[in-house]
Amino acid sequence: MAGKGVFKEILDGDVFKYYVDGEWRRSCSGQFINVQNPSTRKPMFRVQACTQDEVNRCIDSAKAAQKIWARTPLWKRAEALHRCAAIMKEQKAPIADCLVKEVAKALKDAVVEVVRSGDLLSYTAEEGIRILSEGKFLVSDPFPGNERNKYCLSSKIPLGVILAIPPFNYPVNLAVSKMGPALIAGNAVVLKPPTQGAVSCLHMVHTFHLAGFPKGLISAVTGKGADIGDFLTMHPGINCISFTGGCETGIAISKKAGMIPLQMELGGKDSCIILEDADLELAATNIIKGGFSYSGQRCTAVKVVLAMECIADQLVCKVNAKLAKLTIGMPEDDCDITPVISETSANFIEGLVHDARHKGARLHQEWRREGNLIWPILIDHVRPDMRIAWEEPFGPILPVIRIKTVEEGIHHCNANNFALQGCIFTRSFDKAIMISDAMESGTIQINSAPGRGPDHFPFQGLRDSGVGSQGITNSINMMCKIKSTVMNFPAATYTMG
Ligand code: NAP
Repeated sequence: MAGKGVFKEILDGDVFKYYVDGEWRRSCSGQFINVQNPSTRKPMFRVQACTQDEVNRCIDSAKAAQKIWARTPLWKRAEALHRCAAIMKEQKAPIADCLVKEVAKALKDAVVEVVRSGDLLSYTAEEGIRILSEGKFLVSDPFPGNERNKYCLSSKIPLGVILAIPPFNYPVNLAVSKMGPALIAGNAVVLKPPTQGAVSCLHMVHTFHLAGFPKGLISAVTGKGADIGDFLTMHPGINCISFTGGCETGIAISKKAGMIPLQMELGGKDSCIILEDADLELAATNIIKGGFSYSGQRCTAVKVVLAMECIADQLVCKVNAKLAKLTIGMPEDDCDITPVISETSANFIEGLVHDARHKGARLHQEWRREGNLIWPILIDHVRPDMRIAWEEPFGPILPVIRIKTVEEGIHHCNANNFALQGCIFTRSFDKAIMISDAMESGTIQINSAPGRGPDHFPFQGLRDSGVGSQGITNSINMMCKIKSTVMNFPAATYTMG
């Protein structure tokens, strides 16, 4: 059942172990969870269903190890991250192989995900050295009524134990984007991998193990979110939750979590506004790349095209021509469109397509599905009464809404509860800036599809798309708190002059 090239240390028979106290262990539960291969719809791997006692153990060990790690010199913490980055990149093949098998990511994209994660760790180590070495010095006399007899020194200190929960679509990269900032800032990490993506995450965690991080500082507990999620997120030993996933899950977690900092990266319905003066070739290329990469299963995928009516026919024609060239098939063959993550997801996508067709939208390609593999479709003449106008399909289907005015496009973008990213295509930078200003989304790209990277750029969702701002620098800062020491001196007893 286990794939080729796996790290043998993390396997027990055909079940992957969980990681605690610097060791790979079998759960006492005696229960396992199947990880499906989305392409074959058959079980591919098995992981442990960890118990609440095992979660407690992970958190207790993390607490103890974190106290020492917080006192470990910053340069040593940075060195450990650099070591891990190098090992992760060396081991890209087995990790990417798991991504192909458990989240049906095309092999070339799976390799990119692992390499990017290694690069993210190296950058995090460098950035941590810069920003964590700085503090602030204040004196008291600027504030009315004060003498110059108090000095305040403030610096950044870690939060404690960070719970990291990534989603299935970038299980390695989105775990590492939480773990790197947490660790450089002196925190411990408890990782709860997504079930689909768990084995890729466990392989990735093994690269931290090989890099020699202290025992207990990092742990990885596997189990269905629905089973151990609440226990983890409501656990009094957790000092911060960094979560990436669907809005529903994220909002439920934020309602239950205690008084701790939350970093929430949730869903998106990224709008792409195309003006009459746009370079339509450039726009069409970006719509294909943005809308259909990894079969549309990206939070920053283009999820609705809002095209000015006068250029819509021309644009649609160009998009259709490019869409016809996409290869459709299995991730092992590096196809552009690969099976979506699950049957539930494929059924959901099918429901959106049928709803749009039933309400009068025009499908430029025929509906075709084999198992979880869905052929890409451009759905034209979409109107606001169709579900696809508002919902996040997370699949290779893309709605086009024809607009008469730019204001109509901006209104559609702002009326959605999702507000992660958006993009504008125009040759007029003046217009682009004005429209960007009016679009209420976390990031607006001008003349490019939405995207997360480079990973040090700020990345945030407004409204239901998230809480806080990510990106390497923002994540490091978010995973720290400010500590001040105030030195009090006797009031001035002398004057100059
Ligand atoms: P999901 O179903 O919400 O799951 C996300 C993670 O939460 C998984 O690890 C899941 O574990 C866990 N989980 C489920 N229930 C939980 C609970 N009650 N308590 C704690 N954890 C729980 O999302 P997904 O389907 O994996 O990911 C797709 C979604 O993520 C999309 O909406 C996408 O837009 C969003 N996303 C956002 C960003 C961003 O940066 N804004 C990036 C990528 C993806 P199990 O797998 O074990 O259930």
